[in-house]
Amino acid sequence: MRGAQASSRQEASGGLWDSVKKAVIVIGSGILFLAAFGNSLTWHLQKFWGASGNFWQNLWTKLYVMFEGHNEALFYMGTMLVPMVVFWAFNALLLLADTTGKPSFITRYRIQADKNDPVDPEKLRHALKTVLFNQMFISAPTVVAAYHLTRWRGDPCGPQLPTLHWALAELTIFSILEEVLFYYSHRLFHHPTLYKRFHKQHHEWTAPIGVVATYAHPLEHLFSNLLPVVIGPVLLGSHVSSTCMWYCLALVSTTISHCGYHLPFLPSPEFHDFHHLRFNQCFGVFGVLDRLHGTDIKFRQTKQYERHTLLLGLTPLTESIPDTPTKSH
Ligand SMILES: [Zn+2]
Ligand SMILES: [Zn+2]
Repeated sequence: MRGAQASSRQEASGGLWDSVKKAVIVIGSGILFLAAFGNSLTWHLQKFWGASGNFWQNLWTKLYVMFEGHNEALFYMGTMLVPMVVFWAFNALLLLADTTGKPSFITRYRIQADKNDPVDPEKLRHALKTVLFNQMFISAPTVVAAYHLTRWRGDPCGPQLPTLHWALAELTIFSILEEVLFYYSHRLFHHPTLYKRFHKQHHEWTAPIGVVATYAHPLEHLFSNLLPVVIGPVLLGSHVSSTCMWYCLALVSTTISHCGYHLPFLPSPEFHDFHHLRFNQCFGVFGVLDRLHGTDIKFRQTKQYERHTLLLGLTPLTESIPDTPTKSH
């Protein structure tokens, strides 16, 4: 008995170590990709414009001079305008697929094949209204507060850009903070009292779509969606350029988690899609804390878990790893 317990404990800790490794690989490869992308983008831009010296620093200096000390405006451009444009541009593409079922090269990657085909227009309209309300009345004031809090730590719009290495280190710290704060606040919102009052709204979508990422009760939006993301740059007194990159990344990655399509060469959305399907599994972002607390046990016995990987080919995972046919007789 004690032997069995010990071995299961060993299995659990091995499993935890495994998911830590997976998270490190996900964050690490993301950072490496950004570093390589940043370097080659810089190289091409420099070649194209023939700029000398540090391309990004020169660009920032131009912006900085153009705004003549209106640092607050620069901050809001980087933390509200740019992330919103990125969010809506990406979601516009997804919404096109959700509402028309076309193009089929996207919709064939749908995770829950029989859902949102096409999406219910009334339900979508209601979700869009809430998402816009949250952006205007919750996200925007939070970013204003973040500006004033960051100012205590220094000037977030200083003339000097951080180095690429420091910006990438910051992104790693922000990701870890987000995993911890999102996991526990999210689990708290699953407490029956809080769930009924607040979080049930987000779970109306058992098969989510991209924009549903920020479809939530305003209070939940503030505590569970915004704070885990906003707190990192405030604590580190980050430069607006790092914060802008982080907000864009956070918005794109939560959109992917909710989009309902497991597309090639993009992070797997199976984990959070399963959370919407089953409610009591997969609370975190990277899954490390779910492994630690055993809140992914059922998930790990499913086909969705087998499909929870970076798709490196063009065959949809629902075809290469099909559902077990249910016996009908
Ligand atoms: Zn969700
Ligand atoms: Zn939930």
